[in-house]
Amino acid sequence: MYKIIVLMGAPGAGKGTQARLLHEHLNLPQISTGDMFRALKEAHTPLAAEVRPLMEAGQLVPDDVTIRVVRERTSRADCKTGYILDGFPRTPAQAAMLEKLAAEQGKKIQAIEIEVPRELLAKRMVGRRNCPVCGEIYNIYFRPPKNDNVCDLHPDTQLNHRVDDKADTVQARLFTYEEQTRPLLNYYQGANLLQVVNGTREPEAIYKDIETIVTSDS
Ligand code: AMP
Repeated sequence: MYKIIVLMGAPGAGKGTQARLLHEHLNLPQISTGDMFRALKEAHTPLAAEVRPLMEAGQLVPDDVTIRVVRERTSRADCKTGYILDGFPRTPAQAAMLEKLAAEQGKKIQAIEIEVPRELLAKRMVGRRNCPVCGEIYNIYFRPPKNDNVCDLHPDTQLNHRVDDKADTVQARLFTYEEQTRPLLNYYQGANLLQVVNGTREPEAIYKDIETIVTSDS
């Protein structure tokens, strides 16, 4: 049965990095609601005006908007044989919708938590930089680019620091996660759908564990 791979974990746990690796190795689409909303908020539309202040305050975009975006994206042809969700679901209503979607699409949910102690998360986010051209993710503390603030693969491109990765917003995002999203881990655990990997290691070591889980038959 085709799978919906759900990467769970706090902001800064490394979901985006692992989703990229899964995408590169297994050729499944990486669906990041955060990336979709970051693109969407740049437009001059009423929806952008609604989403922008919420994101910049570290709060969640309303469920109805998020659910609509995910339903539309996952109905495209490239999702037919499975896909990776990075940053969704984040609330009980989103988890309920995903269950319904999986049943409709005839797919099995496999949730993987990337576990990172809270004290590391803020530093991971504040240090995070990404290449606006290829999306490669760096960290000035843990995984610096070869040359200061430019992508290794695109040396003419300055790295980007997400607005919501600045220190104030980071605390709000961690709070939002604890309040609204962490309870979902119990839900997936109770349903026997959750596996946990230690997210404090090098990305490649974490990826190996994730690939083993994903390519197993369970
Ligand atoms: P991320 O890149 O996953 O940390 O997401 C960045 C921001 O996008 C979050 O802080 C939220 O404001 C918004 N966002 C991303 N995914 C969701 C979601 N599943 N539900 C609601 N808001 C979301």
